[in-house]
Amino acid sequence: MTTKTPLSDLPEPLLDWYRANARDLPWRRTRDPYRIWVSEIMLQQTRVAAVLGYYTRFLEAFPSVEALAAAPEQQLMKLWEGLGYYSRARNLQKAAGLVAERGSFPDTYAELLSLPGVGDYTASAIASAAFGRREAAVDGNVLRVVTRLTDCHDDIADPKTKKAIRAQVQAVMPEAAEDIRIFNQATMELGATVCVPNGPPKCEVCPAAGFCLGRLRGTAPVLPVKAAKKARRVEERTVLVLLRQGRTALRRRPGRGLLAGLWEFPNVDGALDEDAAAAAAAAWGLTVKAWRNKLTAKHIFTHVEWHMTGYTLEVEGDGPADFFWADAAALRERAVPSAFARYYAEAVTELEDVWNESN
Ligand code: SF4
Repeated sequence: MTTKTPLSDLPEPLLDWYRANARDLPWRRTRDPYRIWVSEIMLQQTRVAAVLGYYTRFLEAFPSVEALAAAPEQQLMKLWEGLGYYSRARNLQKAAGLVAERGSFPDTYAELLSLPGVGDYTASAIASAAFGRREAAVDGNVLRVVTRLTDCHDDIADPKTKKAIRAQVQAVMPEAAEDIRIFNQATMELGATVCVPNGPPKCEVCPAAGFCLGRLRGTAPVLPVKAAKKARRVEERTVLVLLRQGRTALRRRPGRGLLAGLWEFPNVDGALDEDAAAAAAAAWGLTVKAWRNKLTAKHIFTHVEWHMTGYTLEVEGDGPADFFWADAAALRERAVPSAFARYYAEAVTELEDVWNESN
């Protein structure tokens, strides 16, 4: 016999509420594991509204796991451009290769977990939504709902808390496949739209209002408890938008680490003044002919913050062997990560001006 708790009271009213109120999202209209998987990967660290357009374009380009496995890297990265966390796209393709090779989509939590880029949460989300398996998927939304519902003050940044909450949710998951398929989604939806993270929870429209301890005891607004994260490391960088006869220099980032393998504008450590930036260009074998612009920008990654000083320079010379001199069309074809958005826009404007003048 299960002990009655606010959590064990949740499934029935939650599922009724979800069936009446859920947002209509394309990945909720399908049971195709490929489509559900793509949505789950895109939704990692990214808001629903930002994902919608990308999701449609991605599936138009790669309608099957085989099409994704065979996709040219440049096309894949271009379709991901702006979504960030590019390793997600690389892992998707790696995993697509494995799935295509085995001939069917893995349908258990353990097999899904073995795919690159699929963690505990994603494996559970796919196993439940696509295959009706009883696996609790616990993300930030679910942690918030459960800690408020049960008035739990444990630190949710501690993996032990997350593990304990997963076990509690798992214990109350419904039994019928039709309910299992939507239960995880429903708990997340409640967290995303009612038991919201910023601002007070909307308890007046919540199906759990009658038995939620956080609401009854008035503690919901201070939950969940989360220990402060370590401050991000700040890195100063100097980015050079190098212009030469209607082209700009790009190079590939190293194959490992931040933004691995993506195209970037040449850049160096530190916030350089003009003299030091000219010396950096000279060290690449380039002669500065004119200074065009100075642009600063900031980009925030999960653990690092880039503070960038940028210079637009007209130069002569070829630069190192790994420089690729892109004209406007070649620049547009390449996925340059959004960390360089300000410099990308600057280069596009400069190159298109040259193109317009010469046509
Ligand atoms: Fe969250 Fe309020 Fe619902 Fe409790 S009653 S789960 S605090 S929205």
